[in-house]
Amino acid sequence: MGRYTGPVCRLCRREGMKLFLKGERCYTEKCAVDRRGEPPGQHGTSRRKQSGYGAQLREKQRARRVYGVMEGQFRRYYVDAARSKGVTGTLLLQLLERRLDNVVYRMGLADSRPEARQLVGHGHFEVNGRKTDIPSFLVREGDAIAVREKSRGIPVIQRAAEAGNQRTTTGWLDVDFTNLRGKVLRLPTREEIDIPVSERLIIELYSR
Ligand code: SF4
Repeated sequence: MGRYTGPVCRLCRREGMKLFLKGERCYTEKCAVDRRGEPPGQHGTSRRKQSGYGAQLREKQRARRVYGVMEGQFRRYYVDAARSKGVTGTLLLQLLERRLDNVVYRMGLADSRPEARQLVGHGHFEVNGRKTDIPSFLVREGDAIAVREKSRGIPVIQRAAEAGNQRTTTGWLDVDFTNLRGKVLRLPTREEIDIPVSERLIIELYSR
């Protein structure tokens, strides 16, 4: 199955929470979750008891949709996390956070993760001085991320940087808005990953 290209507000309504996929609009009264929070579709308002499996599935779908990752890739992140030493749930979330598109969003150089994904895909960023146009590229501690010289005048990047986007910047990244660059100081702790999902339920789903 290909990447979802339909209306993204529908995804938020399905998950019953804001996934912040539309940038500025998500912070206004136009947000579809604020206006009508029920799930989309004919049976959106009907109450259905959720099974244990249903709860696990919803949690996984939420995480996948927040980061814009397809099922196969998400499962690979889980496999990598399960193979590594440490707490699997935290490692899984760290892998998702280390994606270059997420890092660009966290740095405040894009309004939303989908926008960051597009900017990265169009080759506007470099990592350690090398052009990197793969949104799923995983950054490491010490990596330097910057807007490429030729892309510095792009209005969406300028706008995001001027706004400072303090709501998205975080302690594990050092950001220089003037020079449109930043550095990965360390990997994020679980407390710094402000995604309201239960990684325990996701692990339970994949361990079935
Ligand atoms: Fe989700 Fe943003 Fe749409 Fe609100 S405006 S429903 S947070 S994508």
